[in-house]
Amino acid sequence: MRVYTTLLDYFGAQGWWPGESREEIIIGAVLTQNTNWANVEKAIDNLRAHRLLSLKKIATIDEPTLARLIRPAGYFNIKARRLKATAEFFVRNKNLKNPPRNHRFMLNLRDELLQVYGIGKETADSILLYALMYPVFVVDAYTRRFCFRHRLIESTRVDYEDIRLLFEDNLPRDVELFNEFHALLVRLGKTFCRPKALCEECPLNRRVFFLSKPIA
Ligand code: SF4
Repeated sequence: MRVYTTLLDYFGAQGWWPGESREEIIIGAVLTQNTNWANVEKAIDNLRAHRLLSLKKIATIDEPTLARLIRPAGYFNIKARRLKATAEFFVRNKNLKNPPRNHRFMLNLRDELLQVYGIGKETADSILLYALMYPVFVVDAYTRRFCFRHRLIESTRVDYEDIRLLFEDNLPRDVELFNEFHALLVRLGKTFCRPKALCEECPLNRRVFFLSKPIA
């Protein structure tokens, strides 16, 4: 929590996830794989301009047309297939418009999402947290780098689930907290904790956060 409050005091609330609807957040979570958000926005704008910013419509559109529209997001052929698979999953599972709010349901849903073509853990957890409002901590490369540099993990290759549980088991399970914390870690990673760390100017400098036995 000290990391969180320090970052929140310094950067302020990040207002994540950028997206006007649950469907837009799900679409954005797939498109943002391996690219920056500016490119995702262009792809989303294309879909919106063609009145296709809808999972139902994406599930029925042909793949080459979808690939052409999302081209700005990069890897557009693969992402078109992934996006269609994701859209088909949500269209098939109509109860996800208003999903039950219990942990067991969320864990089952997470397992099912991970079976969808092209949905990895980071994407599944982004959808669960930001679109479906479940308290799941999203782990990305910025999180790994921060954790490693502050000796919370032994290497940046530590298993995704271990890092996720490090946060989930040591913080209140709260959607807003997880939402903001992940967004702040991304901001930290882009601003100070870059590949070449800018520790001198960083708000976390000279504050020691570490585990005596980092997670291996
Ligand atoms: S930039 Fe330095 S002080 Fe800031 S989070 Fe990274 S390692 Fe820590």
